[in-house]
Amino acid sequence: MTRGHQVVLCGAGILGVSAAYYLARAGVKDILLVDEHAPLTLTSDRSTECYRNWWPDAGMLALMNRSIDLMEQLADESGNVFHMNRRGYLYVTADESKIPNLIERSNRTLRLAQGAAPSLGAGQLRIHLSDNSSYQPARPEGFRDEPPGADILLGGELIRKYFPYLTDKAVAALHARRAGWLSAQQMGMVLLETARRLGVEFESARVDGVDVTSHRVAGVKLSNGERVECPIFVNAAGPYLKQVGKMLGVEIPVYTELHLKVAFKDSLGIVGRDAPLLIWDDPQLLPWMDDEREALASDDETKWLTEPFPAGAHTRPEGAGDSQTILMLWEYKTRLIEPTFPTPLDDQYPEIAMRGMSAMLPALKQYFNKMPKPQLDGGYYTRTRENRLLVGPLPVEGAYVIGAASGYGIMSACGAGDLLAAHIAGTTLPSYAAAFSLARYDDPEYQKQLEFLGESGQL
Ligand SMILES: Cc1cc2nc3c(=O)[nH]c(=O)nc-3n(C[C@H](O)[C@H](O)[C@H](O)COP(=O)(O)OP(=O)(O)OC[C@H]3O[C@@H](n4cnc5c(N)ncnc54)[C@H](O)[C@@H]3O)c2cc1C
Repeated sequence: MTRGHQVVLCGAGILGVSAAYYLARAGVKDILLVDEHAPLTLTSDRSTECYRNWWPDAGMLALMNRSIDLMEQLADESGNVFHMNRRGYLYVTADESKIPNLIERSNRTLRLAQGAAPSLGAGQLRIHLSDNSSYQPARPEGFRDEPPGADILLGGELIRKYFPYLTDKAVAALHARRAGWLSAQQMGMVLLETARRLGVEFESARVDGVDVTSHRVAGVKLSNGERVECPIFVNAAGPYLKQVGKMLGVEIPVYTELHLKVAFKDSLGIVGRDAPLLIWDDPQLLPWMDDEREALASDDETKWLTEPFPAGAHTRPEGAGDSQTILMLWEYKTRLIEPTFPTPLDDQYPEIAMRGMSAMLPALKQYFNKMPKPQLDGGYYTRTRENRLLVGPLPVEGAYVIGAASGYGIMSACGAGDLLAAHIAGTTLPSYAAAFSLARYDDPEYQKQLEFLGESGQL
């Protein structure tokens, strides 16, 4: 059977759903969203649901600020049904020698933020040294009337005054303020339901092929045998971005990394229920008893558990009311693998994450001998080499991409959907559009920059 639509969107993850919403809002008619899975279930329900405008890259910063503006607008329009808060990200270190660099990096980020969105007023860096400082802790709920910019708290006493659960070894804590978390599922449902009210149709099927005639999109073939004619096709296939790109004969330069996350019941109430996202910014050795360390070190298979682990273990409380859940993530071993489902898990992850987090939250050691039951899951970061997402036209007339949003697809979804809609509807593109187009790789200057990637793979 053959039928027709103006736009076919392949993939109803958070990016596809957001694209459908902003296209419909831009007045584009006759949109079909196709997914073989239930919307928002493959990667988009696996995230930690956090957001930040704290980026070391001007393009990312501008896109994220726009995205956060749009999320706030959506929260206002929906009565904040997705519980967007602005508790911030707290980066904590026990290493005095890192303080000058922390201040320098923070000032640089705020200067970039100012340059990227002067009208927004990026805010300042406020450094607090004593108890009578003007530091304003974040309110646990809501996102209005919070200070912009960032705060740095110096000295263990001051840090523990506001965050008493943190280690007394902490010497500095950077609190990035335009940041927090939300319910990604509920935000996605607001986007999807509104898009459907605006006329977007959803079809449960797999896109098996894209017809391209004379270098133009002509239609798609679905797994249910239907052929849908369409002049516009959007690849929003998440971890299958590359495979769907091949259907168009276009190479999408992305790869997939496996990332896990664990939830525990913190029945001892160690992590403050009002805490921001807590990030341990120092590398570390995992805490073991002497005999455990000796035994692990003597076996080639377990020796790595006694070797240095990277910075970046993070946690946050999850859920309101009586919830005791905490989420933990720590990317101590990056695994580049082709996406397979169900996602391969790692039984050692919960214990390693708990031990690692105890560097920042020492009371967690009480769980070492009687670990709470972990709930482990994970998904894939689909990413480009320089960790900038892809939004814009592909080199086939009528074909577009929105994806490769790595570990930041929830926070960037609204900004990315809005940008894709501007490309397709032909409205004025924002200044950051070129930074996210596939065509950036055709620029020899950009290729040169790629040789100087930062630690995070971020330009
Ligand atoms: C552990 C973890 C923690 C994370 N934490 C955060 C965080 O705190 N903040 C944040 O912003 N982001 C976070 N992320 C990243 C975020 O979850 C992703 O960037 C985002 O969900 C990607 O959305 P997507 O729409 O591109 O992909 P997906 O959600 O995977 O959607 C792609 C869809 O395309 C469909 N599809 C693919 N091929 C076809 C086909 N041929 N036909 C039909 N349908 C097809 C799939 O079925 C799927 O539904 C995290 C991710 C992980 C794994």
